Amino acid sequence: MDPKPPSPPHVLIFPCPAQGHVNSMLKLTELLLRAGLHITFLISAKDHDRLYRFTTVHSRLSSYPGFRFHVIHGLYEGPIDTDEKLNLMLIDSLPKVTTPLLRMLLLDSQVTCFIADGILGFSLDAAAGTGVPVMFFRTISACAFWAYFCIPDLINSGDLPFQGTNLDERIVNVKGMEGFLRRRDLPSFCRSGLSNTTFQEVTSITRRTPDAHALILNTFEDLEGPILSHIQKHCPNIYTIGPLHAHLKAQSISKSTSSNSLLQEDRTCIGWLDQHAPKSVLYVSFGSIATLTRDQLIEFWHGIVNSEKPFLWVIREDLVSSLDDENNVPSELEKGTKERGYLVGWAPQEDVLTHSAVGAFLTHNGWNSTLESIVEGVPMVSWPFFADQQPNSRFVEAVWKLGLDMKDTCDRRIVEKIVKEVMEVRKEEFEESARRMAKLAKESVSSGGSSYRNLDRLIEDIKMMTP
Ligand code: UDP
Repeated sequence: MDPKPPSPPHVLIFPCPAQGHVNSMLKLTELLLRAGLHITFLISAKDHDRLYRFTTVHSRLSSYPGFRFHVIHGLYEGPIDTDEKLNLMLIDSLPKVTTPLLRMLLLDSQVTCFIADGILGFSLDAAAGTGVPVMFFRTISACAFWAYFCIPDLINSGDLPFQGTNLDERIVNVKGMEGFLRRRDLPSFCRSGLSNTTFQEVTSITRRTPDAHALILNTFEDLEGPILSHIQKHCPNIYTIGPLHAHLKAQSISKSTSSNSLLQEDRTCIGWLDQHAPKSVLYVSFGSIATLTRDQLIEFWHGIVNSEKPFLWVIREDLVSSLDDENNVPSELEKGTKERGYLVGWAPQEDVLTHSAVGAFLTHNGWNSTLESIVEGVPMVSWPFFADQQPNSRFVEAVWKLGLDMKDTCDRRIVEKIVKEVMEVRKEEFEESARRMAKLAKESVSSGGSSYRNLDRLIEDIKMMTP
């Protein structure tokens, strides 16, 4: 009898339970499944339920042999829009609930390789002694990762904690960003003092990255090459394989129906976009976590309506933190909103950004949203909320020239002015650089492109590992 053929490598994948993390790690999963690897994907009960209800992910991924979701019960599953809640998840709930489970899975399930979200540093402890190599996947940009990584150097140089209140002061001790980085562009938690636990946790987790076997980043060399070369000095084994969603598109796996969204998408907005002229609509979304105060909502609303552009705005059920009774359209804005606006609770964002009617994206610069905008060549108006979004928006304006950054302001006149600047006054300039970067993004995932080759290398390297 012929010997049994060797079974394909088995990869355990573990994202932090948040929309942007689950979304991009599912994309990585799908690409690895396409290459014939077997995957166990760890997921919270709530996210599993939401994927089941709102997406076709279950049926799509189940069609690959060797795929399974493994549901983890008992995790903190509430919102993570504040430092305290993030701590509840990262420091309390996740390590306590999952460390024993991870060890069991790593010891019993013939795991070849463990791809853990790099924000879940305890994954290294769980895998210690099991012989299973741990690769870290970071869902943030290389520039944000590098800013996190340099925080201990900024403490040594006296840049942190900030002395005085001038957020425009230059930071010259992050290599590769000397010419343009200001205090306000550092990750948001740098503002809250060294004793802040999120600051400490994120800093120490990031510093552990070189202990992992490799670092996988959802970015591409033409976008972040100079910063990547600084990271590489500390983490020599890097795979830059992004934009992941563009890979799936290039392989024609991901059409409009294959979303990984954890919230129900309102697809009626596509019909509304169909009625608009090319590049005329402002798309507004602050992602899945960011919250606005009622006052900020009103400032944005006035600014957007006064810009006189048609707008599609994602107003999530929980977007406004300080909810009061009057969470309706303010009466003075009713007319402009009715005439030019379309509000949804959650949009099919990738399809929206692909739509020819969209002319600019008012975004919080979460990394997935930023990449999705880059791939479709949509200029950005940036309003970062927290964490990695502050460096991302600085790169959008100062380095990539893909839009304008209005961080730390929330004033109707500024919103109106910046939207007009991007969509009228400097429209051609931003469209041109967005077009150029979109071309590079698409080339990177096409045959022979840098991310295409790096994904191949990642797959081959995993295949060489033995469980
Ligand atoms: N998204 C979506 N519909 C929306 C808003 C966002 O599908 O109405 C998706 C978006 O395409 C992106 C993700 O949600 O993939 C948000 O991730 P990001 O990293 O941009 O921000 P986060 O939610 O983590 O702050």
